[in-house]
This record gives sequence, C-alpha cells and structure tokens, in this order.
Amino acid sequence: MAARILDGSRIASDIRNEVAAEVKAMASGGVRPGLAVVLVGHNPASEIYVRGKAKVCEEVGIYSEQHTPAETATTAELLALVHDLNGRDEIDGILVQLPLPQQVDSKQVLMAVDPAKDVDGFHPVNVGFLSTQRAGLVPCTPAGVIEILTRSNIPIAGQEAVVVGRSDIVGKPVAMLLINANATVTVCHSKTHDLPGVCRRADILVAAIGRAGMITRDFVKPGATVIDVGMNKVTDPTEFQRLFRSGTPTNAQREATFRTRGSTLVGDVHPEVTEIAGALTPVPGGVGPLTIAMLMYNTVKAARMRRGSRIPEMSRV
Ligand code: NAP
Repeated sequence: MAARILDGSRIASDIRNEVAAEVKAMASGGVRPGLAVVLVGHNPASEIYVRGKAKVCEEVGIYSEQHTPAETATTAELLALVHDLNGRDEIDGILVQLPLPQQVDSKQVLMAVDPAKDVDGFHPVNVGFLSTQRAGLVPCTPAGVIEILTRSNIPIAGQEAVVVGRSDIVGKPVAMLLINANATVTVCHSKTHDLPGVCRRADILVAAIGRAGMITRDFVKPGATVIDVGMNKVTDPTEFQRLFRSGTPTNAQREATFRTRGSTLVGDVHPEVTEIAGALTPVPGGVGPLTIAMLMYNTVKAARMRRGSRIPEMSRV
C-alpha cells in the first residue's frame, strides 16, 4: 500500500493562519512584530527566498524590512548593521541570509545577533536553550519537522528515531527536538557503518543529507514515517530516470516539467520509498513550506518573549 503523504503545504498554511491571528491580537495591544532580513550581494537563490519571506510577512501582518549591503561588504560593516538592528525596539527578529561573501567572517556576524532576536535559532545561546529544554528560539526547518509529525498525529515519545545528517542547522537540532519529545534517537553521518541497517531500525526516519534519492527502500522499515528534508536540483536526465520510472501516471507531470525546465527538485529520499513507508513527506510540498511558516512563528515568539507581559500568550509552544 502506498504511504500516506504528509501535506507540508497544508500544515504550513495552518501555521501561517495561526500566526496571522496572533499578530492581529497583538495589534490590539499596540504591538506589531518586526523582522529585518540582511541579504548581502546578489545570490539569485537567496534573493528568491528573501522575496518569499517578505511576501509571507505581509500576508500574516508582520512588519518586515530588507537590508542589502553590497557584495564587497566587510565584517565590520555587517557587525555595525547587526548592532544597529539589535538596538531597535520595533525589530523583533534579525535574519542574516547565508551564505555570506568569502571575505566576511560569518560566524562573527551570526554571533553578534542578539539571541533574543535570533529567529534562525543558530546562536549558541539558543542552541544551549534547546539542548537544556529552556524556552528559546528553535531553528525553523527542524521545528517544522516536529510540527509535521505532531500535526499529523504521528507519535514521537518512545519511538525509535534515526536522523541522517548532523549539520548544525538541520541534523543536530532535529535530533535534539526528537530527544526532547522523548524519542530514542540515533544520529548518522558519512562515517556511519551499515547506514541502511541503522536506518531500518527507525520508526521515524529523517533524511537531511543533501543527496538526491539516496534513501532507497532498503533503508526503510515497512510502515515507518519518513521525513525528507533534502532539497536537491536534478538536471541530469540519467539521474532523473534513476529516480522516476517513466510511464507511471504519478510521474507524468514531473516528466513534463523536467522536459520544459531542464531540472526538478528532489529530496534525499528515493520516490520508491512510498511503496514501503507508512507515511512520507513529498518534495516539493513537504518540509520546505514549513521553513518560512516557522520563521513567521519565531518572529512572533521573539516578540512575545522580548516584550514580556505587554502582549497576549500564543496558543502553541
Ligand atoms: P550539510 O551541512 O551538507 O550536511 C549534510 C549531512 O549529511 C552531513 O552531516 C553529512 O555527514 C551527511 N552525509 C553526507 N553524505 C552522506 C552519506 N553518503 N551517508 C551518510 N551521511 C551523509 O547539509 P544541511 O545543510 O544539513 O542540509 C541537508 C539537506 O537539507 C540539503 O538537501 C538541504 O538543501 C536541505 N535543507 C532543506 C531545508 C528546507 O527548508 N526544506 C532547509 C535546510 C536544508 P558528515 O557530517 O559526516 O559530513
């Protein structure tokens, strides 16, 4: 039987509606959460992503502003900008879009963001809050993974969870959130022995690797929930054929798009996994839409935490 498809687009839309309702409630108390995005230079992918963030801010009623220093910006200039944003009361969230140009010390810039405004949740203070289960700002994509599981009524407590990938922005925080939700968690990486065997232990398997279709059916226990964080652009027709058997009705649309555009977005999980998993997030339309929704959520959460009792409580988390 084909896996149940976990609709990230719908869940993200629900979260955006909840955030919009909260923003409206806060407005009655005279508060409007504000997000500042820093985008250095001209990276087309980042520009698209930042435009998407601004659009969703507008939809949910969050004030947003963009700062676009030139590609030649120095560490000192970016530090001055971040310090300025740290000091402005109407700005609740600061997001420095990565990657930064080579001449910039990215770590120093990220460390300069006030942890109370660190809506990406990357600052070591927030990493510490997460690992010690204190209230803080949680990285958006990992938080989105947990939202998908909980809102799809997939039990986490007591379950065997395997996370493939140990990056600071996805793998590690996902693992920490699963531990906090009482799963038994194994984290795998490129040096893990018998990766398929370890993955087959999972009731919940999270793939955050960055390799198109690497998780094939041999990695999956029948009935497991598989969360595919990967976002990989496939342009090679042979690779496309490895992933999508032609002639099946479900692949017809994707084949047509691939022929027109010359590329397609693929996760880390091979599409054949739908035949063995119990539940699966698609790519696109799975984890991806949650990232911006959780950024909106974090901006409101940051406003609530920083401004204390001046604003009403949010219903979740
Ligand atoms: P990353 O920093 O490159 O980390 C990849 C991880 O995968 C590393 O821990 C690496 O192990 C592990 N890995 C690589 N090859 C492996 C292999 N053959 N076997 C086992 N483990 C292997 O990537 P990331 O930033 O975490 O992102 C992961 C994926 O998520 C990417 O496709 C990215 O585009 C996607 N992503 C999606 C969203 C979203 O909004 N949906 C957000 C962020 C990222 P080592 O540590 O040993 O090198």
